[in-house]
Amino acid sequence: MIVLCAWCIEQDRPAFLRELAPYVDTRISHGICPDHAAEWRAKLRRQALVARGHAGGAGTLPPTDGARP
Ligand SMILES: [Zn+2]
Repeated sequence: MIVLCAWCIEQDRPAFLRELAPYVDTRISHGICPDHAAEWRAKLRRQALVARGHAGGAGTLPPTDGARP
């Protein structure tokens, strides 16, 4: 079984990660390489920070505030 990084495939990069037994089985399985795993974790961390920032901002200003004459 051949394991390829799904993120590398999307970016047209060499995607081969590893081969798993049984080696005669040439089916393809998708995984994530260490590079993309690190990138993904960093992205999730950024998204979590942005989401927290937006939630705090929306909480301080009610949406009806700007509609008042
Ligand atoms: Zn990758």
